[in-house]
Amino acid sequence: MYIPKKYGQSKVDSCPFCNKQATTTNKEGFPVCIAHKDALFDDMKCVCGKPLESRTGKYGKFFLCEDCGPISVKKVLEFNPIKKLEPKSSSAYEDHRPSEKPKEFIVRSDDPRFFS
Ligand SMILES: [Zn+2]
Ligand SMILES: [Zn+2]
Repeated sequence: MYIPKKYGQSKVDSCPFCNKQATTTNKEGFPVCIAHKDALFDDMKCVCGKPLESRTGKYGKFFLCEDCGPISVKKVLEFNPIKKLEPKSSSAYEDHRPSEKPKEFIVRSDDPRFFS
């Protein structure tokens, strides 16, 4: 049995949740982008209603239904709700205090009225 080595891969995996370039893998081993690192493919169901098992094959991850056979991750996501994890945003914690600008009257020494 010939097992292809992993070097020289030209295929770039895309995140199944957002189609961005997958730069990491989640806990289940799916290639995902960094924003979906904690997203999981649990409770995925087949079109026939049976629970799907995730498997790793020659071409990467896929799902297996005991009735329908192997189904691609992309296909599974077409009929399964995706548990989206929103990337953490720091802008929600922005400070909304009104800017405190003291309304002072400053007499500048170069004001001609001051010296006249
Ligand atoms: Zn993503
Ligand atoms: Zn099925």
